[in-house]
Amino acid sequence: MDLKERLEQTTRERFGLAPDRCDDRQLYEALLIVTRRAAEERPAPAGERKLYYFSAEFLMGKLLDNNLLALGLRDQAQELLASWGRDLNAVEEQEPEPSLGNGGLGRLAACFLDSIAALGLPGDGVGLCYHYGLFRQKFVDNRQAEFPDPWIGEESWLIPTETVFPVSCGGFDLKAKLWDVAIPGAHSGVANRLHLFDVEEPAPPPEQGIVFDKTDIVHHLTSFLYPDDGDEAGRLLRVYQQYFMVSAGAQLILQELKERGYSPAELADHTVIQINDTHPSMVIPELIRLLTAQGLTMDEAIEQVSRTCAYTNHTILAEALEKWPMAFIEKVAPQLVPIIRELDRRAREVCPDPALAILDEKGLVHMAHMDIHYGFSVNGVAALHTEILKKSELKGFYGLYPDRFNNKTNGVTLRRWLEACNPALTRLIDECIGGGWRQDPGRLVGLMDFMDNDRVLSHLLTVKQSARERFCRTLREAQGIELDPNSIFDVQIKRLHEYKRQQMNALYVIQKYLEIREGRLPEHSVTVLFGAKAAPAYVMARHIIHLILCLQRLIENDPVVRPWLRVVMLENYNVTWAEQLIPAADISEQISLASKEASGTGNMKLMANGAVTLGTLDGANVEIAELVGPGNIYTFGAHSDRVLRLYDDRGGARYRSLDYYHTPRVERLVDFLLSPELLELGDARALAELWRDMKGKDWFMALLDVEEYISVKDLAVRQYGDRKSWARKMLVNIAKSGYFSSDRTIRQYNQDIWHL
Ligand SMILES: *Cc1c(COP(=O)(O)O)cnc(C)c1O
Repeated sequence: MDLKERLEQTTRERFGLAPDRCDDRQLYEALLIVTRRAAEERPAPAGERKLYYFSAEFLMGKLLDNNLLALGLRDQAQELLASWGRDLNAVEEQEPEPSLGNGGLGRLAACFLDSIAALGLPGDGVGLCYHYGLFRQKFVDNRQAEFPDPWIGEESWLIPTETVFPVSCGGFDLKAKLWDVAIPGAHSGVANRLHLFDVEEPAPPPEQGIVFDKTDIVHHLTSFLYPDDGDEAGRLLRVYQQYFMVSAGAQLILQELKERGYSPAELADHTVIQINDTHPSMVIPELIRLLTAQGLTMDEAIEQVSRTCAYTNHTILAEALEKWPMAFIEKVAPQLVPIIRELDRRAREVCPDPALAILDEKGLVHMAHMDIHYGFSVNGVAALHTEILKKSELKGFYGLYPDRFNNKTNGVTLRRWLEACNPALTRLIDECIGGGWRQDPGRLVGLMDFMDNDRVLSHLLTVKQSARERFCRTLREAQGIELDPNSIFDVQIKRLHEYKRQQMNALYVIQKYLEIREGRLPEHSVTVLFGAKAAPAYVMARHIIHLILCLQRLIENDPVVRPWLRVVMLENYNVTWAEQLIPAADISEQISLASKEASGTGNMKLMANGAVTLGTLDGANVEIAELVGPGNIYTFGAHSDRVLRLYDDRGGARYRSLDYYHTPRVERLVDFLLSPELLELGDARALAELWRDMKGKDWFMALLDVEEYISVKDLAVRQYGDRKSWARKMLVNIAKSGYFSSDRTIRQYNQDIWHL
């Protein structure tokens, strides 16, 4: 394809200008159009079996750079723009980030689509076309405020299709209109699709924040991801979204099955559905319904669907395992009720234990239970997580169906999370070991041969230094904040949740603040960077953001502390921020309460960019620790088995935060929330609520680990001073990150589950 010719033609047709006369906005649009077409023109991968990856979220990030890279056009585009005196990076800044996901789970789905296409496997995504995303975060008076986050302009990555499916919702009918995003695979020459369903007449953005009429299903079904479920209308809207997504998706699957020349009775031989967490679980009864409508008996339909569906569990947090009242399903999709009742009846025949039933005595439908009884595979997302599922959370199911359980440790696409976001590091790696790691990321271990190469080690430090400097420029432009690029960049970027324990990191900041005020200066200046959105209805998470923003302000105003300690919370943390910050990170904060983080993927991205993990033995941190060895990671904290016992009522082991609060050091830190200097900046009620919760409840046990956390972090800061030894730690982390390529993860899914 002649990129130059196509670009010239596009800018002439659209703007009546030659490319070198266009502004960045126009050049972006032209590149978008040309790239979209190039991806669209690629053939789909061939195969007798096809995967459909169902997910409520696909946190895609910007696509221009990624797609140029996958299409092999990136260097050409860069040179071409340079010949017109332009900069590809500046043009890419024009792209809005599609806002179709929330955190790790949605980003995983996006990395998976990238790897599936790169490996040339036939696999499409199925999801919803949210117009305003989760929300756009702004900080107002040291608090989070939420606004719509639109991303669909006149031109976008969406490719219109002719496909429309009817979806019958109790009292009324909806039409699901299909839009596609092409997913070109790197080095594979093929492209898959992300299928996004939308309502026919989507509503304009709400006028006031993210408040809208949640009963106006027809127009608002696809407005926001995870609408506020604080009331019944919000919860019902989520069920409408889920049913709309799976009904349309199931119809698409059966239509394509027919087009491929197979009968409905052959579904399982030619189709596999991966259910990403429980949001798409209703695809099981919906497919059964559609198959019986096409003439299969109930037995046959159940058999086909059970051999088609596989379920990925992402969490052991009880509140996240969805249970919907049957009354909601009665309202949203009454046609599913008799099927779900029948599935429950049959499950009880196999296993009479009511704890494993689909429908409980309160009339709640346990979505995960339906997935496990009527799917052929259940996987956790890191070795420890899968073990906990088998040993405790899903123990009864494991006893019933031991062969269904398997582990698939998460991964990330190194094309986006190393090659695209960190070109300088990529060049250094290429110089050391050549480019073969792109096809076979395991080859990154070749970097271990350079452990004693002073030139490489010092080059590595320079690359990191430049990345910090670059990030400082970006932050200055975005938020007007000036940082010291020689400071240690200590990074905690992830959804705000008490189990991830940003509050524990805030207690570290308080400790350092107090020490510096007392004249005890640290060995090295530290910049603590946070990026996190809180679910709008999650009060304690909002309070933690408030605390961090107050600490940020407190230190900014303090000329004594400021040179040694800074705190920054990035506004509207998203994939684009992650791509900018991760190359600059020195310390990767992965401090969840052991047993609570299923895997984490931020930990993998940071490691691949030479950050050293400071973490608990939780999720994939356990596997990172095994790979890099004890000298190249900082671990601390109670182990998962102890934590699980502390949640247990029996034997009086239960965690009591007050016992930990009443130690001199901890009490002082927690009480700082009510200090005059913080109260002057913050909201007294919010700070008091957070203080009371930390002291008297602390459900995620920050006080259990905080003292060890602070001393291990002090150790990391001290050892950072030995630059050569730190560079070795960085090198080992990069060298061992190949295991966490999502290409490896997808190969394993294919070998063990999909068989494409
Ligand atoms: C990778 C990523 C996440 C997941 O981070 P964890 O630390 O694994 O929770 C969340 N949000 C964004 C934008 C990401 O890129």
